[in-house]
Amino acid sequence: MLAGAILLGALIVIAGRAIRGGESGGGDVAQAPAVATIVELTPILPTLTPTIPAPPTATPPPQAPIAAAAGRVVCLDPGHGGIDLGNVRVENGQITLQEKDFTLSNALEIQRRLQEKGVVVVLTRSTDSEANPNNLDVNGDGEVASPDGPANSSELDDLQARITICNDAGADLLVSIHYNGAENTALEGYEVWYSGNREFSDASASFATTIHEELGTQFAAAGFDMFDKGIGIEDHAVTGPAREGKLTPSAMPGAVVEGLFLSNDGNAAIVQTPEGQNAIVTAYENAILRWLNENP
Ligand SMILES: [Zn+2]
Repeated sequence: MLAGAILLGALIVIAGRAIRGGESGGGDVAQAPAVATIVELTPILPTLTPTIPAPPTATPPPQAPIAAAAGRVVCLDPGHGGIDLGNVRVENGQITLQEKDFTLSNALEIQRRLQEKGVVVVLTRSTDSEANPNNLDVNGDGEVASPDGPANSSELDDLQARITICNDAGADLLVSIHYNGAENTALEGYEVWYSGNREFSDASASFATTIHEELGTQFAAAGFDMFDKGIGIEDHAVTGPAREGKLTPSAMPGAVVEGLFLSNDGNAAIVQTPEGQNAIVTAYENAILRWLNENP
């Protein structure tokens, strides 16, 4: 089954490349994904009060079935937090948008909606903090972050803290919520990543396919012509495999979702509208409910 999963992933990546025909090379899925690093762009600039994402509107979205979702456990992982800003948008020398704010806002709203459907939702963080704010040696490898470094936690300890919350909750699914950013401000669109190197990679691929499809559906329904960066395989995020002596991996299928590029003018405008936020949150909501129903 593992070989099958890898093959499936390879085919998806090829399909994704085919979709991106006109794009210049910078957005290729083969590049190292931004999610693999704790601080994707170390801020050296003064910070304005960031724009807080507008709450999604109450407009009824296209609905997914909910029958088998009640009582199931979903672990939502809002990327970054605290001094780890994630990707940022810089305008006129000031940070105007921070990934960590959008990921938390989205997670809290997805949690609220799923709980209304009876789903048990666990968060890896529910406030503006790092997952391992006290720089503990969570993974037991004897290493912690340097006090002079840009983060309060080593990358592996941060990952382990998030994974352990999901594992301890006995979650059925792990959904890691992120936004993209790049120095090349022409890069735009949404993409989904999963590990092709897990015993449940077929199930992870199934969720990745579902959330990718829902993002396309919801952006289109909201009137946004959004660029599709496809589905990619990567092993270094919160959904990745074990690293001996370094990382006890997640015990459930999952995926890492990169909503939009905060660094792109068009994407940044959309992400700050209630309609844009509602499209993204609804895509997560529907995809999770669909996947739970299809994987009882
Ligand atoms: Zn991120």
